[in-house]
Order: sequence, then structure tokens, then C-alpha cells
Amino acid sequence: MKKKISILGSTGSIGRQALEVIEKLQDKFEIIALAAGGNTELLNEQIRKFKPKYASASNLSEIEGAKSVSLDEICSNTENDIILVAVSGKIGLRPTITAINNGIDIALANKETLVMAGDIVMPLAKEKGVNIIPVDSEHCAIHQCIKDISQVDKLIITASGGPFLRKSVEDMKNATVEQTLAHPRWNMGKKITVDSATLMNKGLEVIEAHHLFNMDYDKIEVVVHPQSIVHSAIEYVDGSVIAQIGLPSMHIPIQYAITYPERYEGIKSKSFSFAEIARLDFEAPDEDKFKALRLACEAGRVGGSATVCLNASNEEAVFAFLEGKIKLFDIIDSVEKMMDTHKVIQNPTLDEIFEIDREIREKTKELLGV
Ligand code: NDP
Ligand code: MG
Repeated sequence: MKKKISILGSTGSIGRQALEVIEKLQDKFEIIALAAGGNTELLNEQIRKFKPKYASASNLSEIEGAKSVSLDEICSNTENDIILVAVSGKIGLRPTITAINNGIDIALANKETLVMAGDIVMPLAKEKGVNIIPVDSEHCAIHQCIKDISQVDKLIITASGGPFLRKSVEDMKNATVEQTLAHPRWNMGKKITVDSATLMNKGLEVIEAHHLFNMDYDKIEVVVHPQSIVHSAIEYVDGSVIAQIGLPSMHIPIQYAITYPERYEGIKSKSFSFAEIARLDFEAPDEDKFKALRLACEAGRVGGSATVCLNASNEEAVFAFLEGKIKLFDIIDSVEKMMDTHKVIQNPTLDEIFEIDREIREKTKELLGV
């Protein structure tokens, strides 16, 4: 029987690659719904090709060839076996919760969902018996390595180091948007690409890993690995280390997440060769140069609304940077200032999370004068 799937964010980097995977595995999937934001032209093209029953976009009246519905309606539709949440930013949180409440499994790319509300999302998924299968390559790697989480002593998350790994602090201070978006390994949406340049992305991933695998922050380590071949690793209590290795392609973790627990040849383009890779390098991250990593880990340790504050201030500052209104390091400075003045609430409700998110975004814009 075909697996019934919906994709939130089908026009984005993850969404488009997911459709490439599904195209290769046509006999395995039936698409129930596709959802985009503003790019209805591409969405309509996807509708013509993949023929979903339902579709969603910021402007519903522009949708052609499928019944237009809201994200929430898609996630309430129990025809779905799985929903790939690949929208960017805070927009992913509510639909994810709706899907979990309806007992639908989630392939989760949208890390903001867990950064903002991991303490709500993960227990809810457990209560409803819903699988949350990570798409983020590092977490997907860890998911593939873990047999018994109770025997795992440490998670080791790898980071490519981004475009500024070998650049000076001075270079980073003066970095243009173009230089920041020139990621050496991954072709992704703009927001996550800026986060990868500051290493905020790795910080968000530490928080994501904490929630996904219920692991103490002291037991999550980040290591820079420029080749992006080792996608992450775990250390068992007896010192044995298991890593997941492969060529750097998001098709693999996307396919793993949506076909789990099955595996298919699918979109695999090339066989892996250690001899061709020849060498793998590792080094500790420079947390003075990449202060965002430290800030994010601190926010994670504080917990509660601290990570909501971190996420909201970072996202607003990244948007301002992308619009050319501020410098790269202003992002980190503003996050730090917001974190310093934020009054943390432990165990915030969903409504409180959205309220804090809104408030921090306003304050960040005010602070940056944008
Ligand atoms: P993109 O910016 O490429 O895509 C974002 C998607 O979200 C687009 O389809 C966009 O639609 C849609 N979207 C934006 N706003 C709305 C809205 N209000 N309602 C509905 N849809 C909306 O991002 P990525 O694909 O790079 O990333 C998506 C998520 O996956 C992020 O959370 C990111 O952190 C995570 N991720 C991405 C990786 C990657 O390799 N790209 C790797 C690991 C995680 P439209 O374009 O039509 O406006
Ligand atoms: Mg990642």
C-alpha cells in the first residue's frame, strides 16, 4: 500500500528535494497535500505534476488544480500517514501540534518547532504514540545510530563550519550577504544558510538534539568537520562510537525520514568510497569567533522561554541582515542583548510561547532600528 504524505513547504529547498525523492519512489507514495507560502507559481506547477487532492498557500485564491485548504486542515486530515514539516521558521509549530494531536507521524525538518516548544511537542508525541523522525542531517544520523538510547552516553554533532571557518573575525565583521550565503557544502534556504555561517544553526541543532533524544546538554558535543561526510555520531557507555557516514546530500536524510522504517534505493546517485574521500578532518569549534553557538547552548541550559527568545531575536536579526540593514555580527549582539534582558518563564504554554515570540521580535526590530 502506498504511504500517504503531505508536504508543508513544498516550494522550499527541503520541499523540492522531497518531491524529487517521491518522484523516484512513485509506487511508494501518494501525495495528499502540498503547502507553500508565496510561491504559488511553483506550487501550481507541483500540483500539475503530483496531483495532490489539497493545497495551501499564503494566497489561497491563486491555487489551481487542487482544493485549497489551510495548513491546519492539512494536518487534521487523518488520511495522512506522515507529514513532512519543511516550512521555515515559527510557522511550523502549530501545524505540527495539530498533526500530532491527530496521531499523524511527522518527518521534521523545521527545527524551530523544537527550539520553541520541544518541552510541549515531544511529550505530546509520546502521549499520542506519534513518531517524530528527524530530517536535519545530524539528527537523522543520530537516529540511524541509536539502538537503545538508555545506553548512549554522548551525542556528537558535526558542523561543516560554514563559509567563515578559515576567515578572520575581521572578515566576518565585514561579510556581505553574498559571502554569507556562499555555503561551501549545502545549498539551503537563506535563513538557515545565514545561521550556518554564524554557527547559530549548530546551536539550534544542539537544542533540537536535546529534545529529540532527551539528552542532557552536558552530553551533547559539537565538532567541526569541514568535509561533511560524518553526519554525526553517538558514544555508548562502553566507549564504542557509532557514526553515520555518507556523501553530503539532503536527499538521503529526507528519504530516510519519509520512508522510515523501510529503506529503498530511491535517489541514490553514487556509491560511497572511503578511498575517494581519502581524509576526514575534525577540530573543536572556536566559540569566541562563533559566539552564537555558545549563546544557543546557554539558552538551552536555561530552558523554558530562553530558547524562544533566542530563536525569535535571531530570526528577526537574520531577516534584517538579509535585507542589508545590519552587519553579520549585529545578529549575535542583538541576540545577546535580548537574552540578557529576557525574563525567563519556565514551562511556558503554547500561547505564552507565541506571545513571547511576538514581543521579542518587536523588541529586536526596535533595538536594530529596522
Ligand atoms: P526555504 O526557505 O528554502 O523554504 C521554506 C518553505 O516554507 C518554502 O516552501 C516557503 O514557501 C514555505 N513558507 C514560508 N512561509 C510560509 C507560510 N507562512 N506558510 C506556508 N509556507 C511557508 O527553507 P529550507 O527548505 O531551507 O528549510 C526549511 C526548514 O528545514 C527550516 O526550518 C530549516 O531550518 C530546516 N532545514 C533545512 C535544511 C536544508 O538543507 N535546506 C537542512 C536542515 C534543516 P514559499 O517559498 O512558497 O514562500
Ligand atoms: Mg543540520
